[in-house]
Amino acid sequence: MGNGSGEVAGATALVGLGGFVVRSQVVHDGEHWLLVETEATRAWCPGCGVAGVGNGRRRVLVRDLAIAGVATVVVWSKRTWRCPEALCERGSWSETSDHIAPRASLTERARREICCRVGEDLDTVAEMAREFGVGWGCAHQAVIDHGDTLIAGDGRLEAVTALGVDEHTFQHANARRRTQMATTFVDIDRGRLLDVAPGRCGAVVRQWVESQPIWWPDQIQVAAIDAFRGYATAIGDVVPAATLVIDHFHAIRLASECVNDVRRRVQQDQLGHRGRKHEPLYGIRRLLLTTWANLSERGWERLRVGLAAGDPDGEVAAVWLARELLAEVYAAPDLAAAKRRLIVFFQHAADADIAELTRLARTVDRWRDEILAFHSTGGASNGPTEAVNLLIEKIRRIGHGYRNFDNYRRRLLLGCGITWTTVPTRRIRGRQPAFAA
Ligand SMILES: [Zn+2]
Repeated sequence: MGNGSGEVAGATALVGLGGFVVRSQVVHDGEHWLLVETEATRAWCPGCGVAGVGNGRRRVLVRDLAIAGVATVVVWSKRTWRCPEALCERGSWSETSDHIAPRASLTERARREICCRVGEDLDTVAEMAREFGVGWGCAHQAVIDHGDTLIAGDGRLEAVTALGVDEHTFQHANARRRTQMATTFVDIDRGRLLDVAPGRCGAVVRQWVESQPIWWPDQIQVAAIDAFRGYATAIGDVVPAATLVIDHFHAIRLASECVNDVRRRVQQDQLGHRGRKHEPLYGIRRLLLTTWANLSERGWERLRVGLAAGDPDGEVAAVWLARELLAEVYAAPDLAAAKRRLIVFFQHAADADIAELTRLARTVDRWRDEILAFHSTGGASNGPTEAVNLLIEKIRRIGHGYRNFDNYRRRLLLGCGITWTTVPTRRIRGRQPAFAA
């Protein structure tokens, strides 16, 4: 069987399941049912090597990939064999195949497909279980088995020169637990998630880096982090050659938190309760976090009206401006300009004299070197970090929050860590194999 182009004799070969042929095919309850068997005609005893004697057949039912959108069941008429050697203790055995694992309810390629759909396309396990007509646990196990192999074999950790360390909420607090944080490690240049570990402290970073190959830390030239001393100290210890940077993304996030804090306080002072719909400051809470260059004519007008109505002392306006001034530091054309703009920021914060803003300015001052390093390292881009964070958020929403960290990590790495090597479909025009018929 078979020639150079992979053609199999006869029309009964089951495409993609090498070694199997289709004996019969029926449509039953709207599904394709294929009766298949292997081409093996002989077998040798695994115990003593003597040629086996046919011992009848046994049928095994598994779900396979849909054929042209129609659910498909493969019925494998499995040969069983018996050892004729009287002294051998092996008794009988049945044939095996790489395509269908013992006691499986899915073919391996169907399991791989489930893993791709869940991991790459962000379909849910429940959707896949429904589509393939198997239990949730069975679909989930397919994601575990194929996913872990893909994750282990992926080269994402190679040639990383810019490392981003970030924190995010893994689980929100409820009656039984406090908020659970997780630390993400991101390849900033390529915008890929390298890994995620539970917890938010220096020890998490230290442990993770130390679990990498010995050469790994040496290739890291830039480490972009949160303004969090624990991370900075740990990076300094385990990746000593890296220049620490507080990138645009992290700095603006700090400033945005400050804007939100002041907005909430002013709201509370004005109204005696937290923000609600149709109240001036609450209504512009998102506009307050939009860079002014991106504000539309209408946006400006709403912002102006909202501040005029809800911010009598101009405190919200002052932190909003501070946030813009900090963004200007990052937008500066060079290091000298960035330094000048940083002074403008500090001057503004001092003049405004608002407790929350003073605290932000102090933080910025403590991290002055790391902020300016953004320019000396050629401006580590924050686009990829943001893109990864958005994807993480999306994956978490799809999974309705995860209880198990291993599942969570697997799904994040499949969704925004590994490189999927999906073969692009070739154009059909002008290409035709030589059929033997
Ligand atoms: Zn034997």
